[in-house]
Amino acid sequence: MNNGKICVSVCAKTAVELVGQIKRAEDSAEVIEIRFDCLDKTEFEKIYQKIISFKKTYRGKILAAFRPAEQGGKSDVNLDERIDFWRSFSSFETSIEWADLELDLETARLGNLPFEKIIRSFHDFSGVPENLDEIYQKSANGEEISKIAVQADDVADSIPIWKLLEKATSENKQIIPIAMGEAGKWTRILGLAHGAFMTYAALDAGKETAPGQVSARDLIEVYRAKELNAETGIYGILGGNTSVSMSPYIHNAAFKFHDLNAVFVPLQVSDLDEFITRMVKPETREVELNFKGFSVTIPHKQSIIKHLDFIDDTAKSIGAVNTVKIAGGKLHGFNTDAKGFIEPLLNSYGDLQNAKVAILGAGGAARACVYALKNSGADVTIFARNLEKAQNLAEDFQVELEELPTTDNRQPTTEFNDFDILVNATPLGMRGKAEDETPARGERFERVKLVYDLIYVPFETRLMKEADRFNVPKIGGLAMLIAQAAEQQKIWTGKDAPVREMSRAALRRLQ
Ligand code: NAP
Repeated sequence: MNNGKICVSVCAKTAVELVGQIKRAEDSAEVIEIRFDCLDKTEFEKIYQKIISFKKTYRGKILAAFRPAEQGGKSDVNLDERIDFWRSFSSFETSIEWADLELDLETARLGNLPFEKIIRSFHDFSGVPENLDEIYQKSANGEEISKIAVQADDVADSIPIWKLLEKATSENKQIIPIAMGEAGKWTRILGLAHGAFMTYAALDAGKETAPGQVSARDLIEVYRAKELNAETGIYGILGGNTSVSMSPYIHNAAFKFHDLNAVFVPLQVSDLDEFITRMVKPETREVELNFKGFSVTIPHKQSIIKHLDFIDDTAKSIGAVNTVKIAGGKLHGFNTDAKGFIEPLLNSYGDLQNAKVAILGAGGAARACVYALKNSGADVTIFARNLEKAQNLAEDFQVELEELPTTDNRQPTTEFNDFDILVNATPLGMRGKAEDETPARGERFERVKLVYDLIYVPFETRLMKEADRFNVPKIGGLAMLIAQAAEQQKIWTGKDAPVREMSRAALRRLQ
């Protein structure tokens, strides 16, 4: 257990709605931040009264914030209105104990405020200001708690904010350091473990009051943010877009099951070289994070290879790494996609010797599938929309290559009835603009023995529904996702993965 606090920020237009949110935040929040800038001014009086009665049973603290639009607030208030708002607190009883005052509010103009604690905040939604240190010096004065929130577009943009945390803790000063946005999410999760005074959470997913906020439930139950400490082993997903990843749910469920002092966080990386140099390699890194391993996904599965000290034979043969283990400061690369793909297939289909398999798509996932299928003795044909791009894959593994006409007219015409197994390794059917599409129509594969769609969001794809229409057995992508993650767990922890808990965690999220 660390000493940091979880603050749930609530934001609503009416007192009735706001009270509903406050009551729902009660169980998870040690501090509830009331964003007065969201509330209609005519509702202020009502909410003060409600807070007085709420505080009779709530043991946490109530924090008030009144953020102007230019600092991320919902209200178009000028400086004089903001000062009047805060000055008004000295004239009546509200039960609000803490206040968040932006750095531009001059203490001298505010008069004597009746709050136990003042958080002095600075927000930059456009990036990381050059004079961060100066801002910190200004905000970290005396008894006040400094809150500095900057926008991170890439994971390394969070480095200056993390360094401020290191500096503040070494000076025994209290700070709330936040890198906003998906790329900075890890600072919200790990901050408390490294001495941050507080972290902010959203009441629910979709109710975030700032970019990159994690829901209170996920922060407590998935990431166990309060239970982490400076010794916690840190794992994470390295990807170009981590916001849709299931991996934090799956891997944190496994760490929790084994009661390990480890956590798995999203690490949204665009510049991989910068991330590895400035945050990972012992000789060059600028921050001390106890990284133990990574899951690697699009677009870094190949580009990670040049940063590794060792790479195992499977990853070498496939030409892609999806797993990194860090031990003794060295980075070891593995590929668990091939095993993750083949295990559910062997379980459902049985022996693959001479089975005729059609693989649709020729990207990274297809490469791992072809490798695993060839090793199992299957007879593989790749179908790709761009034959030139797919040529290398077909040549590397000596398999057939055929054209997969584009599905722009939404009526795919390729015939697969001569195959035993059909594997979709394209994004056709994936949540988003291709969700309604299928790379093959049921009539064209009704005689195959098994359809395997690697997509796992949605849980049931168009292709799988086509399979249902003709009673063709099917496997969805979740089976592979869990099997490859289970293998990653074994590599990282040496323990057998709790597959049931991992699947449940993913299903809960998907549904
Ligand atoms: P990738 O490297 O981007 O490859 C995608 C392949 O699909 C490429 O060959 C691409 O062709 C082709 N493609 C894209 N759009 C197409 C379209 N409209 N029509 C026909 N072909 C199209 O991606 P990946 O990593 O291989 O992933 C592929 C799929 O597998 C994704 O849906 C991913 O979610 C899923 N996956 C699942 C798991 C799991 O654990 N279940 C693991 C990995 C991947 P071009 O080269 O011409 O663009």
